[in-house]
Amino acid sequence: MTDASRAPRLLAAMAHPDDAEILIGGTLFHLKSLGWEIGIVTMTSGDCGSASHSGEEISRIRYAEAKTAADYLGAWYGCAGLMDVEIFANAQNQRRVVELMRRFDPDVVITHSPADYMVDHEEASRLARSACFALSMPLYQTRQIAPAPATKSTPALYYADPVDGVDAMGDRVFPHFYVDITGTLENKIKMLGLHKSQRDWLLAHHGIDEYLEQARRWSARYGRESGCDYAEGLRQHMGHGYPREPLLQDALNSKIESRTTELRNPQLATDH
Ligand SMILES: [Zn+2]
Repeated sequence: MTDASRAPRLLAAMAHPDDAEILIGGTLFHLKSLGWEIGIVTMTSGDCGSASHSGEEISRIRYAEAKTAADYLGAWYGCAGLMDVEIFANAQNQRRVVELMRRFDPDVVITHSPADYMVDHEEASRLARSACFALSMPLYQTRQIAPAPATKSTPALYYADPVDGVDAMGDRVFPHFYVDITGTLENKIKMLGLHKSQRDWLLAHHGIDEYLEQARRWSARYGRESGCDYAEGLRQHMGHGYPREPLLQDALNSKIESRTTELRNPQLATDH
């Protein structure tokens, strides 16, 4: 349940800087324009995302880029300070994530798919899922400096689609519903482009603006699956103890699409 005395609050809890933009950027812009407060938490600041900078340098650069991108959306940004390829769902990391999430106090959280192409994403998903449960437990102490109070309730939890729409075995993971992002695609692409170091890196490597083109391609593919131009996919966590009300589906109402019947064709499901 959202608190009627304040604007609803959505937190994207992702592994790395740029994951939120790539997977759910268009959805975030829709919610922002509906008056939602948006927050983005990344587990790491992307300290392994470079072939030319030191870990410390690229971490600083990518943190600043993530902040700039969040500013462009008008979103709060927090980083849990974990390291790339060392995101693990353990007690120490859990405390940091719960602390950050309590500071934002979300009504809805979107994280990675529980099954994804890399362990960082899957562990970030586990951390976010477990953190949602712990947020409102007053006896759960984060042991951080000046800790935020426990929240009033457990937020509704949603999962973005895995990267490329498949799990680590290459099997297609279909979303529960699609969000038509045709109207917000350009904002999503612009926000993603603010992760300049990643864009430049891929540009030098591929000779084309692959970073942005790939995001456009993926959104178009989801669009084809749901009968609109561009889309993103989401699933809702329906397990015991988490809100099952369709908060996002209701808020995004006119933008919600479902899978087209032609999609039973497996050819399209594996088309890149
Ligand atoms: Zn990532």
